[in-house]
Amino acid sequence: MSCVSNEKYYSYLERLVSITHNQPVDHDAYLDIIVAICRDYKLTKGVSEFYVTPMKEQRGDGEIYCDFDTGKSKKVLIRIRIVSASKAVIIGTLYSDPDEYEHDDTDIQQLDSLLRVVIGYISRMRLIKKLEEFGFSDLDGYRNFRAFARFMDINNAENRLGGKVAFYIDLHNFTIINQEIGRENGDIVMRKYYELLSDTIGDTGIIIRLGGDKFIGVFDKGVQEDVFRIFSGAPIAYDVSGEQRVIVSVAAGVYALPVPYMMKSYGDIMDKIMLAGNVAKRHEGERIVVYGEKMKSQSDHVKRVQTAFPSALKNEEFIIHYQPKVDIETKQIVGAEALCRWQRDGKVIPPDEFIPILELNTFVSELDFYVLDHVCRDMVRWLNEGRQPVRVSVNFSRKHLIDIDLTDHIISIIDKYNVPHELIEIELTETTSDVMFSDLRRIVSDLQKNGVKTAVDDFGVGYSSLNLIREIPWDVLKIDKSFVPEAEDENSVSNVMFRHLISLAHDMGLECVVEGVETEEQLRVLRKNNCMIAQGFLFDHPLTVEEFEDRLINKQYK
Ligand code: C2E
Ligand code: MG
Ligand code: MG
Repeated sequence: MSCVSNEKYYSYLERLVSITHNQPVDHDAYLDIIVAICRDYKLTKGVSEFYVTPMKEQRGDGEIYCDFDTGKSKKVLIRIRIVSASKAVIIGTLYSDPDEYEHDDTDIQQLDSLLRVVIGYISRMRLIKKLEEFGFSDLDGYRNFRAFARFMDINNAENRLGGKVAFYIDLHNFTIINQEIGRENGDIVMRKYYELLSDTIGDTGIIIRLGGDKFIGVFDKGVQEDVFRIFSGAPIAYDVSGEQRVIVSVAAGVYALPVPYMMKSYGDIMDKIMLAGNVAKRHEGERIVVYGEKMKSQSDHVKRVQTAFPSALKNEEFIIHYQPKVDIETKQIVGAEALCRWQRDGKVIPPDEFIPILELNTFVSELDFYVLDHVCRDMVRWLNEGRQPVRVSVNFSRKHLIDIDLTDHIISIIDKYNVPHELIEIELTETTSDVMFSDLRRIVSDLQKNGVKTAVDDFGVGYSSLNLIREIPWDVLKIDKSFVPEAEDENSVSNVMFRHLISLAHDMGLECVVEGVETEEQLRVLRKNNCMIAQGFLFDHPLTVEEFEDRLINKQYK
């Protein structure tokens, strides 16, 4: 005679599945049901263990939880050990006291199924927590944008931002430094330069890495002179004796926050320092550009772009390029991203030089709709010519988020050309404020209801909150290249994290695309981690429409 009726067993199973699959999980309800199951099934103890890798399991370096314990455990009744797709190890063990109650086969079968549901849940929850633990630093251990956001929020609440100086820096010639002294030494140099700045800035400020060789932060006015000296050039040693040195300098955009200063969004500060930083990058002489003061040349440039834009748009000076997305197993093109370039007076201007300016007002929206319109035009032509098009993604600036008619507008453009909705994907970047978060959720849901795919762009740079992917129904996760581990060492932090992110994304039904894939080694890392779609120079640079159409003929790479 089993201790729980069939009916009750199914009701437990159903409740357990429904609690653990709902987001967010009601943890109290989950614990209640675990305890009820343990009691009804006359168990004496229930233990779960979690290890990030099998190697850590061997070393006993993991987390152990006991949700139920009567103190009378005599025998291991069931033990299930599962290695997840991301190679994490989860073990569930149920104990009994055979002197009190002897479980029969039906009991054991039922407990086995219930335990598997619980293990599945624990695996998901632990992975999410692990990823969140890494939340305030990036894969290489540099503080990340979330650390910046937290610092700014705390100081804003305490009214301490006024008078501080915000900055954006881009290390000068770092690619060349890497080439000259090797990547490993390059990493050492970058780390030391960051530490030097971090020490100089002290606790009243912060410096974080945005990605690659780009950093942002704030510091107190009192240390400005020292910080600027380091910006202008500091000798950094990369060997133990300190003899091998390179001079590191940066292009910097800075913005002195007024007194008093109340921050409305990080975006406001980011826009200013990045704009100033981009001026600094362009001008050989001026390597530290203060927003507002020394930006005359920039404001000229801004004015030029803004004045030229309306007629440039009318004259169709913006040209769409297509960069293929490739299935790395079959080497077939499975999609493309539309990227625009501005063809002016015989020169091609890259998007980084005009998009940030167009984002200062609503011009960027006009450009994005224009790009979508042109993509639909191309798509219709391909369909009419009997080609087999692939889904094309179009970037939409986050400046669109406040537009409540955005979805309608997008759909009306797609429908004007009768393009099947599933052939269009909209890429949006993550946002930094809660207000925008809800706008983002609304827009993504609306687009999804209309059958248009959505992608979160540049995941891994900037804010990268896991909530962003958990709470918004994206179809595609575009992972920035800075998130991809460089080496194949399976147990390195970056590999473990990458693996977990991919398996979490797959669990949630998201397609993963990795951007900026340049080497065969990166491809191997992707393959090992079941990440099947890549976009990057290894396959193709962004192509002109004619070149892309040629690629569409057989869609196959060697
Ligand atoms: P994104 O959306 O993240 O686009 C990917 C960028 O990575 C593109 O730069 C692409 O050329 C570059 N890329 C691709 N493969 C590789 C690689 O293997 N290595 C490296 N180092 N880079 C690679 P691009 O075309 O210069 O565009 C820069 C950014 O400008 C885009 O980043 C996007 O945010 C923005 N952008 C471009 N076109 C549009 C547009 O029509 N509307 C809006 N709102 N933004 C756009
Ligand atoms: Mg994009
Ligand atoms: Mg991107």
